[in-house]
Amino acid sequence: MMMQVDPRREFPRRFVPKDADMGDWAQIEPLFTQLLARPINSMEELEQWLYDCSELGGALAEDRARRYIAMTTQTDDPVREQAYNHFVQEIDPKTKPMWDALDRAYLAHPYRKMLPMDRYGVMDRIVENNVALFREENVPLETEEVLLSKDYQKLSGAMTVTYQGQELTLQQAAKFLDETDRRVRQDVWELVVRRRLQDHDAIEDLYDKLIDLRTRIAKNAGFDNYRDYAFKRRRRFDYTPADCFQFHEGVERAMLPLVNRVYEDRRSKLGVRSLRPWDTQVDPLGRPPLRPFEASDELIKGCEEIFRRVDPGLGDQFKFMWEEKLLDLESRKGKAPGGYQSTLHERRWPFIFMNAVGRDDDVRTLLHEGGHAFHQLASREDPLIHYRTTPYEFAEVASMGMELLAAPHLNVFYRNESEFKRSYRNTLEDAVLIFPWIATIDAFQHWIYTHIGHSRDERRKSWLEIYRRFQPSLDWSGYEDALNYLWHRQLHLFTSPFYYIEYGIAETGALQVWLRSRADHRAAVERYWQALALGGSKTLPRLFEAAGAKFKFDYGTLKPLADAVGEELDRIGD
Ligand SMILES: [Zn+2]
Repeated sequence: MMMQVDPRREFPRRFVPKDADMGDWAQIEPLFTQLLARPINSMEELEQWLYDCSELGGALAEDRARRYIAMTTQTDDPVREQAYNHFVQEIDPKTKPMWDALDRAYLAHPYRKMLPMDRYGVMDRIVENNVALFREENVPLETEEVLLSKDYQKLSGAMTVTYQGQELTLQQAAKFLDETDRRVRQDVWELVVRRRLQDHDAIEDLYDKLIDLRTRIAKNAGFDNYRDYAFKRRRRFDYTPADCFQFHEGVERAMLPLVNRVYEDRRSKLGVRSLRPWDTQVDPLGRPPLRPFEASDELIKGCEEIFRRVDPGLGDQFKFMWEEKLLDLESRKGKAPGGYQSTLHERRWPFIFMNAVGRDDDVRTLLHEGGHAFHQLASREDPLIHYRTTPYEFAEVASMGMELLAAPHLNVFYRNESEFKRSYRNTLEDAVLIFPWIATIDAFQHWIYTHIGHSRDERRKSWLEIYRRFQPSLDWSGYEDALNYLWHRQLHLFTSPFYYIEYGIAETGALQVWLRSRADHRAAVERYWQALALGGSKTLPRLFEAAGAKFKFDYGTLKPLADAVGEELDRIGD
């Protein structure tokens, strides 16, 4: 079976006027008013009304995404920044009460109960949840939260260090951790740590403000603490805090032995007495960094070929994205750091942004974002915007799963067998080494938001305890202060509270897809694609099942995955 979609099919506006400007509230508001006032006299009319709501949502989302893309592809242009801020500050807060009114109108509608729930059930649950959580008085608090998170990005974005007379951003400095000269790695690492500590009071202040604000938002919505609110807000309908604790325990018992083995192997290859925080990234055999490509054209051609080997249809889809200029990949001055996949919801096209500089990681990043892009394309025919987005717990199965499904084809970039092995090994090691950090960040957030009024000292102690539980292999002696505030560099704690375990749940799913692919690659890829085509139209357990995976992330699920990765690492060798 070919992974077929028609990416060029258009979905013209039917309800929103063709030339309506989605950045102008005077043109947007009447559309909400019309939807609220429209009489609905049959189930079919209710469905059409839902589609029209989705059309408006798609038009607004695309306008927002285009502004965001424009800003991040050229951050030194104040006009672009202003255009994005206008949307966040002027349009978003005004649409929120409107969406709430539409949600309420839907819930109250007599024809709602006639809709087939196998089709509408998931959407229905989302809308019910939206209405249960919405509080008008939280709208300004949420805007304040967004602005405070921006302060965090400003603080960390402004940090630089000077090494050998050269001023480096922390991102640039991080590349020195690849250096084979241990002295260089340690020197740069120390510079970065000292620079971060300079601002540690400002960051602690900011975090206290955020915790306080979030706790108020939760109380306004009728919850005892922000943890319980966040579980609803993040639509965790299918798992509970108890499941998260089981994940922590599963990581500790199933993944840590393998992680410790990988670190011990690294330590002995490096020939050092103990593994220090500046030893985790360098090639343990002292080889120079992999250089899979020079220009971004080569990166694109190589990934297209890899996708084609996974499935010819995916190769075509990726080629289409290149032709339509939906890829902005190479690093250049003025571009925001990092990488993301964004969706143009009206055109129903994906867009990939990253900062490629020719490293092995860049290939993996593009394979990852490619998985997200295929997910968008696979579900683009669905008229409900709710179903063209997928919960993160499964969306990251699409991307992390693609990294693993593509790994056997990395020889497209690495003709030399030992380089290929090295890259494949990196992919598998990354998939495992990520677990302890996810458990650490998740456990820490559970503690933070259920210990209201804690002191900074209690927070520090709790952090250390959790860190030591999940990261016993690294030697921090002499750098206790750096360890105390290590969490300050985890962006999600500041900008997306409680968003992190999703990666662990998804990696558990992705590894299950990978395990199936070792027995039958073709069959695993087909199920992967079928699950992607469902978009967000099913519950998490059903989406995982469609992909051939269990929606579980406890010891019993993690153990066989750890064993299989361990075996494969042994088989690959160096
Ligand atoms: Zn992702």
